[in-house]
Amino acid sequence: MTKENITYLLWSDLVGVTRTRGVPTSDLESKVETGLGWACAGQALTAFGSIVENTWGPMDEVRQIPDLSSAFSYKSAVTGAEWSAVICDSKSAPDRDWDCCPRTFYKRALDALYAETGLTIAASFEHEFLLTADSPVPSGFSLGAALRGNEFLQACCAALRNAGVVPETLEPEYGASQYEISCAPKIGVAAADAALIARELIRAVAADFGMHASFTPKPSPKAVGNGAHIHFSLVDADHKNVTHDPSAPLGLSPVAAYFSAGILNHLDALIAITAPTPVSYYRLRPHAWSCGFKTIGVQNREAALRVTPSASPDAARRAKGYNVEYRPADACASPYLTLGALVLAGLDGIRNKTALPRPIDCDPADLSKEQLAELGITALPSSLENALAALHADEGAKSWFSPSLFDIYNRLKKWECEQAYANDEATLFKRYSTAY
Ligand code: GLU
Ligand code: MG
Repeated sequence: MTKENITYLLWSDLVGVTRTRGVPTSDLESKVETGLGWACAGQALTAFGSIVENTWGPMDEVRQIPDLSSAFSYKSAVTGAEWSAVICDSKSAPDRDWDCCPRTFYKRALDALYAETGLTIAASFEHEFLLTADSPVPSGFSLGAALRGNEFLQACCAALRNAGVVPETLEPEYGASQYEISCAPKIGVAAADAALIARELIRAVAADFGMHASFTPKPSPKAVGNGAHIHFSLVDADHKNVTHDPSAPLGLSPVAAYFSAGILNHLDALIAITAPTPVSYYRLRPHAWSCGFKTIGVQNREAALRVTPSASPDAARRAKGYNVEYRPADACASPYLTLGALVLAGLDGIRNKTALPRPIDCDPADLSKEQLAELGITALPSSLENALAALHADEGAKSWFSPSLFDIYNRLKKWECEQAYANDEATLFKRYSTAY
């Protein structure tokens, strides 16, 4: 059989699905300037095949313009099958940004941060997922669970490294058949590109082994959740980490403290972007190992922001790796919208010199209502509807989005809320497990 390599042009849409059009690899160069056409109404696609009502007509089109710096390829360790891919910016014209492109949303956020502070962010994702196959399930975190997935994990390790995404840990997680692969941080737009690439490669490797990797935030109401925690740090133009100040509270430099405070200040609205489905809210609860409260603490897993100092005795190494973990995120969100919104919230904190609340070094669930009120700690939104209402009520957060982007995002998410009521719980969870 003769085969010819295809390069898939990829873009992450508003519901966190990677969409594509393919071209013969030999034609890729010719697409760099003008890209490939794509209907604007495609941005109204849900993860379930339907298209929500929108304002685009049948002739409205954008160009998918490949960014060659993001190109990667895959060769299956199982079947030998090969493919290549490249991530695109969706543009109204080759030289004109489209305000509904998530990658452009993130790039503009990075540009604003850099213009005002001379800084950018480094970020990495912890990818948790459920690996389904038909064999007995060993206990969470056990060597048995690791070895059951050993060849799969090894193939993921090679595929990620080959694609320029550096795997750092590959392991069984707590849940039955749950695994986690965490990758090294990347700077700027490459951080979101790396998240897209990692998720798609993990899916591809699983499929090669005849298995299914699902990143759904909650496989079933009582199952252990899949998070997509994000570790971020602020770095200067020379890529020096400027997040740490050993003498300051939480070890955070003033600029990192303001940035983190901005995120906490807009947290309820942010969650509508970073935990974007009805099932996401079954994960965001106290004592679910995800996080349940709007607060910050060192190593506190119940806090939405967790400062994770390195254990290294070497001060320079500690400063280099200093980062903050944002926990209320899952993989149903586009990594571009997620990081873009985090950057804009953080920038708002820097602009306004927003003060951090008092850090929490205990389980907030153990505090009385009065203590929580005094510390300004609230529970996270309990549903997508509540998070969307918080987004609508937060004028600052609303201003991050163009009117068309805000409109279509809300249409998509309202449709998902309606679906949650139209389906019984079991059907709803199954649909998200299959789609993500
Ligand atoms: N699975 C947990 C979540 O849903 C995270 C566990 C951990 O701390 O890695 O966020
Ligand atoms: Mg984990």
